[in-house]
Amino acid sequence: MSTKAKNDDYLLDLTSRVYKVVVEHGKNGVLQSELWKELDLTSRDGSRIAIRLEKRGMIRRIRVLQGGRWTYKLTPLRFPVQIKSIEEAPCITCPDEERCSPGGVVTPNTCVLVENWVMNDFKLLTIPTSN
Ligand code: SF4
Repeated sequence: MSTKAKNDDYLLDLTSRVYKVVVEHGKNGVLQSELWKELDLTSRDGSRIAIRLEKRGMIRRIRVLQGGRWTYKLTPLRFPVQIKSIEEAPCITCPDEERCSPGGVVTPNTCVLVENWVMNDFKLLTIPTSN
């Protein structure tokens, strides 16, 4: 595997881990400094990933004053039905990610991939298995 491919895999893995931790903290959210600590990320890498997830409409970054310093609290905007399905979230590997934004031509608001992902997840929970 090339170095670029390894870096891309590493970034995708980190992105899904950041999203997973944000989802696990639920509606109360998590301070990004706590998240960076938990995942052993530098604030530069962590912020980059958080901004990407925000741009894709998956999380919200809210500016908060904490201990006299401004920071961001991250809360999920999309809740996968099952934590396990986060690895399958289409935004994590989407080739249109750079062009995608809430007000853009490519937008999470009308994204079929996200819709299918949520629907498949929902089916997994509602359709009983045969065994
Ligand atoms: S186009 Fe869809 S899958 Fe791709 S980043 Fe946007 S919302 Fe996610």
